[in-house]
Amino acid sequence: MALLEVNDLAVSYGQIEAVKGVSFSVDEGQVVAIVGANGAGKTTIMNTISGLLRARRGQISFAGQDITHWPTHRIVAAGIVQVAEGRAILANMSVAENLALGLAAAGSRRHEGGPTIATMMERFPILGQRSGLPAGQLSGGEQQMLAIARALLAQPRLLLMDEPSMGLAPLLVKQVFAIIAALKAEGRTILLVEQNALKALKLADYAYVLERGRVALSGTGAELAGNQDVARAYLGGL
Ligand code: ATP
Repeated sequence: MALLEVNDLAVSYGQIEAVKGVSFSVDEGQVVAIVGANGAGKTTIMNTISGLLRARRGQISFAGQDITHWPTHRIVAAGIVQVAEGRAILANMSVAENLALGLAAAGSRRHEGGPTIATMMERFPILGQRSGLPAGQLSGGEQQMLAIARALLAQPRLLLMDEPSMGLAPLLVKQVFAIIAALKAEGRTILLVEQNALKALKLADYAYVLERGRVALSGTGAELAGNQDVARAYLGGL
């Protein structure tokens, strides 16, 4: 059974219908990518899954429950944790305080032997070295690591990653994808939205190409990575 199932989802901003009947699913342990040109509706889908936006039509099911109308805190409590676009770390709080927020978000899902702030600082040593600094003083790449570490401390059953490489220099983009590859190797379930389409497709088990609010194509990451239409979509030619 799919862990996340999205069925005929439609989302509007006033008169503008940004997502027009999208269906897809994510199985446990899968990395699923949604790729598409700017404005295709990727962020809108992510924000609707996490409860920040409301569906106008359609259903979102998670672990067999209909979460379509749940408030965000309940969705997080169920185990859907978003690593936000733009990173959304709290700039005035220290690195350690930001990590503590992640741990708090784990709530009742927190279990013996789960990740701790100390294990995250081991995994991302730069965060340990900078633990007392205001998070706003970290570089872009370090902030992205902090955002990922914070999300992992919340012990997600499904990790939503919205453009994790956005705005980063090429070397850091590589690092972020290496982190995602490591998370995949650990068997984590990830829904990934990316502007770096080819990199995302190479990593994804399955992927959906979104075009003006609709799924234009879907297939395994490898299939889509070699598809000419996908290349054209990325050059804005469709
Ligand atoms: P990007 O990579 O640029 O973020 P995206 O695929 O994530 O693109 P969305 O941000 O989901 O796309 O936007 C989908 C559509 O909805 C676009 O046409 C966009 O202009 C519109 N849109 C997004 N946010 C709003 C908003 N707050 N109010 C009105 N329209 C919006």
